[in-house]
Amino acid sequence: MLPFAFVSCEEDDGRAMDRSAPRTELAALREELDYHRHRYFVLDDPEISDAEYDALFDRLSDLESAHPELVTPDSPTQRVGAAPSTQFAQVRHETPMLSLDKCTSESELAAWEQRCRRLLGPDDELCYFCEPKVDGVAVSLLYADGALVRAATRGDGETGEDITANVRTIPDIPLRLPADVPSALEVRGEVYMPITGFHAFNRRALASGERTIVNPRNGAAGSLRQLDPAVTAKRPLAMFCYSIGETPGGWQPRSHAEVMAALADWGLPVNHWGRWQENLKGCTDYVEALLAERDSLNYAIDGAVIKVDDLAHRSRLGQVTRKPRWAIAYKYPSEEASTVLVDVDFQVGRTGAITPVAKLEPVFVGGVTVSNATLHNMDEVSRLDLRIGDTVLIHRAGDVIPQVMKVIESKRPADARAVQMPSECPVCGSAIHKDEGEVVARCSGGLRCRAQRKERLRHFASRQALDIEGLGDKLVDQLLGEDLVGSPADLYRLTIEELAGLERMGVKSAENLLAALEASKHTTFARFIHALGIREVGETTAATLAKRFKRLDALVAADEEVLQEVEDVGPIVATRIVGFFADEANRTLARELHDDIGIYWDVAEEEPQTAPLGGQTWVLTGTLGAMARNEAKAILVELGARVASSVSKNTTVVVAGPGAGSKRTRAEELGIEIVNEADFVNRLTSLGWGGGTDET
Ligand code: AMP
Repeated sequence: MLPFAFVSCEEDDGRAMDRSAPRTELAALREELDYHRHRYFVLDDPEISDAEYDALFDRLSDLESAHPELVTPDSPTQRVGAAPSTQFAQVRHETPMLSLDKCTSESELAAWEQRCRRLLGPDDELCYFCEPKVDGVAVSLLYADGALVRAATRGDGETGEDITANVRTIPDIPLRLPADVPSALEVRGEVYMPITGFHAFNRRALASGERTIVNPRNGAAGSLRQLDPAVTAKRPLAMFCYSIGETPGGWQPRSHAEVMAALADWGLPVNHWGRWQENLKGCTDYVEALLAERDSLNYAIDGAVIKVDDLAHRSRLGQVTRKPRWAIAYKYPSEEASTVLVDVDFQVGRTGAITPVAKLEPVFVGGVTVSNATLHNMDEVSRLDLRIGDTVLIHRAGDVIPQVMKVIESKRPADARAVQMPSECPVCGSAIHKDEGEVVARCSGGLRCRAQRKERLRHFASRQALDIEGLGDKLVDQLLGEDLVGSPADLYRLTIEELAGLERMGVKSAENLLAALEASKHTTFARFIHALGIREVGETTAATLAKRFKRLDALVAADEEVLQEVEDVGPIVATRIVGFFADEANRTLARELHDDIGIYWDVAEEEPQTAPLGGQTWVLTGTLGAMARNEAKAILVELGARVASSVSKNTTVVVAGPGAGSKRTRAEELGIEIVNEADFVNRLTSLGWGGGTDET
């Protein structure tokens, strides 16, 4: 196994490295790069991020430029990708599949343009075509007389692998093109795994205990290199075409834009972010605009590709060491990086959930410095086989919390320590327990736990709950620190003196906060329910509950059966709600907020019940002969009734056909009206339903 710490300019003990031996450093770098290249391209199991790989590569290129006499033909700088695997037949590319030069700043992009201009001459008008640099696998498709006859990977650029059978399973790649395409047509592009497909794959893998995929690129590469095409067929893959190879004797397009239009016309998948640009300013604007959209795309990108549009210009510009001079990749900040797991902290959430959080050696990733990553729960820690001291690969995209993707086992130090879930809450010392069948462990301290109190207050004041302006994180900390509040109800008992006495809080801010607290008393029932922080009851469920129950007493009194009649409330949510109000402290708090503090909401006047069955709840059970159950349900709904699946004291009528069992018995017990089908149809007819009138 190769050591990773290869080219630091200083040895571990601080001695400067022997710079007079570039040959030694070059050899170490090449070995290092070959190792990672193999892991990336052949094993689809990278150990370092692309950015780290690029840094190694750049160092090698710099050294080779300084010592051209030391460049060897087998140096990674002289190759593209990796040698093809021997498991697939080999395919020689008529025109080599190239790599791309890279830049990371506007000035480097401008320097590239200057070089193109210099090489072409002052009279040549330069226009460009910009595209996303999709992070997948470069693939060549060969169409003979319009039929897909061969598909190959890039391999080392000269020779790739024959993956025709696998590529044939990708739904958006046409197996036949229209009759007017050139008789020999090579199309190139990127096969990728859509992000939604990647997540769905990992969800399924997690559920069935299979290996997950580290990132969409690995997903695409691994799927394409399956020996059984039936396996590839089950993987979510797609392609974007972005160039053509030779088209001997036939069509001679003049520009890249023309090529892209033709590819789209022939039904080949092309990326809709491709844009022709008149000048370099257009390209820099494009680079910025695409970056802003990066997180909303359903495919991973690692940059933008800027290509000279005119194909005649391109052939004059040519290529250098397997990279065309006419194109450049503008690389975006890497969303992956490797770093060391220094420790694992355990955070306590609002409902006592204990979340392991990775403390990392700070690393720059996705445009920011990251030193924490969530580990979700201990199952995830075991799945990753994570130990303190491990080097890990982390991923951060957009505003999403950084995730640990995998452990790089080859770098595990001898003294790496297992991650242990504490038996006591790190904040209040109460016992930590885990319910049967649950993944999440919880602190049993309830509101005795300061962390839970804090999270509960933060949640209560949050924008989606009571929306108390000015009651931010810091202030909640201060209030708890000074012992001024314990429960949300205490917030409303704060005095101006208490508040103004807090550090960094003047009289004016104190007055504002009191006004905000006062204003928050007039709310909606949905917000109030949400603010209570019942487990599993988010904003949407709170809104449905509010609509159904309207008043606090009605909600508190509802049993599981009644609750389950509410749309989207299943047995688990119903149990949580009942469990919440069964706890004396919660019940008291809810009543205190409502009755004593005076939090209120407008209860809409009962809706005028113009519909004949408005406000009624019906249950259908047993076999219905004259009409299908769905039809009966639709008629009832049309007449204004609610149709529930179980009988409760709120049920108005039960329609019991032959074979009715427990629901009928329950209705009898509760003294609810039971009708048979004939009575039911009569009742509907008397309400003006014209059932069967169109029959002759
Ligand atoms: P690299 O492998 O980093 O040298 O980058 C070159 C690779 O970028 C190509 O082999 C393609 O796989 C990939 N690529 C992704 N999107 C594009 C695009 N729009 N045009 C050209 N190459 C692309």
